[in-house]
Amino acid sequence: MRIDVVTLFPEMFRGFLDGSLLGAAQKAGLLDIRLRNIRDFATGVHRQVDDRPYGGGPGMLLMPGPVVDCVESLLTENGSSETPDPSSSIAMLSPSGRPLTQEVVEEFAGRQRLILLCGRYEGFDQRICDTLKPDLISVGNYVLSGGEVAAMVIIDAVARLIPGVLGDSQSAVDDSFSGTERLIEGPQYTRPREYRGLRVPDVLLTGDHQRIADWRKTQAILATRRQTNTHTEK
Ligand code: SAH
Repeated sequence: MRIDVVTLFPEMFRGFLDGSLLGAAQKAGLLDIRLRNIRDFATGVHRQVDDRPYGGGPGMLLMPGPVVDCVESLLTENGSSETPDPSSSIAMLSPSGRPLTQEVVEEFAGRQRLILLCGRYEGFDQRICDTLKPDLISVGNYVLSGGEVAAMVIIDAVARLIPGVLGDSQSAVDDSFSGTERLIEGPQYTRPREYRGLRVPDVLLTGDHQRIADWRKTQAILATRRQTNTHTEK
């Protein structure tokens, strides 16, 4: 899978992309992640990429020219057409977007190509959306100072679904929000058997796979119910 990140701060991604899971995935050829600097598409002596909002108000907005030119250069490289084919997708990071969920992550992981647009300052000029018609994605109801961290969230979540990236392919299926039921994972235990008087539940020591699977399922249902009750009901 190929992911292009359109950003004013490509250097923010360095340590993150070189890290263990993503670094290995890129080395193995499973992921091809490229960083594109919007400033490379700025014109004029000052290489300006942002300007004050019409109508007044605080801060600066990303101008349409450099962002659109940057994305169009990606879409037309290798002589391909400017209309993205259905196997690729342009996602703009924005607080106004649809919320990022595991379903959305799975949808992206099924694409051959993903272009991530990272905003800065007060965000994007509306005509960038009007021209590129991106899929607007929010990572939560709070405001970040840039789309870079949000893009890293998407890259990380998508990468672990690409076959071969995780050591054990079953682990992504068993994870929270995954599989057909999208349950949250229940409690897990490793050694020692007893820690500060807290014992590992006996069922996990029985070696009875069916009983263990049943217990885990019950715990997952309880954890899912707990999360729903705690976080969504007032
Ligand atoms: N003025 C905007 C916020 C701009 S924050 C507003 O009030 O909605 C600058 C950039 O950070 C945005 O363009 C976006 O790319 C990114 N960003 C901030 N919060 C985000 C969120 N919750 N989800 C995704 N991207 C976000």
